[in-house]
Amino acid sequence: MVKTKIEGYAKIIRPQNFDEIMLLAERARGQSIKMINATAVGGGVAEILTRVVPLFNELGIKTKWEVIKGSGEFFGVTKAFHNALHGSKTEITEQMMNIFKETSEANLAEMSFDEDVVIIHDPQPAGLIAAKEKSKAKWVWRCHIDTSHPQPEAWNFIKSFVEKYDASIFSTPWFAKELPIPQYFIYPAIDPLAEKNRELSSGEIDAVMRKYKIDRSRPILTQVSRFDYLKDPLGVIETYKLVKKQRDCQLVMAGGGASDDPEGDQVLHKVQEAAKGDPDIHILLLPPFADLEINALQRASTIILQKSLREGFGLTVTEALWKGKPVVAGAVGGITLQVIHNFTGMLVHSIEGAAYQVRYLLNNPQFAKKMGEYGREHVREKFLITRKLRNYLLLLISLKNQGKDLIEL
Ligand code: UDP
Repeated sequence: MVKTKIEGYAKIIRPQNFDEIMLLAERARGQSIKMINATAVGGGVAEILTRVVPLFNELGIKTKWEVIKGSGEFFGVTKAFHNALHGSKTEITEQMMNIFKETSEANLAEMSFDEDVVIIHDPQPAGLIAAKEKSKAKWVWRCHIDTSHPQPEAWNFIKSFVEKYDASIFSTPWFAKELPIPQYFIYPAIDPLAEKNRELSSGEIDAVMRKYKIDRSRPILTQVSRFDYLKDPLGVIETYKLVKKQRDCQLVMAGGGASDDPEGDQVLHKVQEAAKGDPDIHILLLPPFADLEINALQRASTIILQKSLREGFGLTVTEALWKGKPVVAGAVGGITLQVIHNFTGMLVHSIEGAAYQVRYLLNNPQFAKKMGEYGREHVREKFLITRKLRNYLLLLISLKNQGKDLIEL
């Protein structure tokens, strides 16, 4: 993990916000945390933990990160849960529930929980709560999924674990559930100093574009995403084809896999089929940690697409907004927190709508530029990692003082 010095953020956020983080860190110091999720690379959760864990340690809060193990079959089951919690029609069977429980038990046999706070990310490791009784830790379930309209069988099963936690965290109040435990709301966030988001020189951007043989003199539409049906990659190709009827442009679809997402190969194959024969569609299969490449691709793009059909938050949207890019994105889940229609980006509900907005932005570059500027400021205020650190620190302090009406800082 790359270390970033906390002082680096003082130039990016308001001084009072920076001072507040340092004060809260002082109050929370001495506590230890264990973060647990299902994959070390690929997807937004791994992206966030890669940055948050070293920063916590630098602030004096000892933080470890562990990843659960599971078979392909287990991750097939958890992907089905993921889709069902997002509201997709997916069959959840008794056998799937058993596979889930067995893998939780197998992981429990190899893990220990000696920290003050255990934060479990998403449904895959939720079953580890069985260890709570034997540990002194406070247990927190952090949900990164849009659980506003889950399939009831899937939610009831996951809920049977979640209600045993001491607290839960959702990305927005819209995803709140009926639960007997406290619910906290913390937006996901990006790290402006990470390789994926830092400023790049034009030489660095050019080198990446040369590597992938993308022409910088013509408009570039880009979607960066795992190859997942819920990111609507086939809809992105259809959108591009509609735009292309009237405007010359290229399409970049950049993505890699995540070890907890077994559907990726199948989706990629369909995308490749749909793109066949068009030299202006660049499908880039990226290795893990291709951060510089993603940064350069986003910066070189004329418009960033994120045509998701469901989305917990959509860090790719945050990354694009921070780079001042005009974004055209599906009006779903956490995307709508980030994209304020016609102001920080364009929200769309269909392929035709997406094509219309892309053409509009290509034809109105001054408006697109202004929207990008507003988008960047929106991210600075709400979706940078410093704000997330602050919220987590407050959560640690509140867990330590549970039951008190007033906590003096
Ligand atoms: N990402 C990446 N490589 C890829 C595809 C995505 O590093 O090939 C990153 C992307 O830049 C973003 C995160 O993975 O930081 C995806 O998070 P998001 O919330 O957009 O979607 P998720 O994959 O968690 O559903």
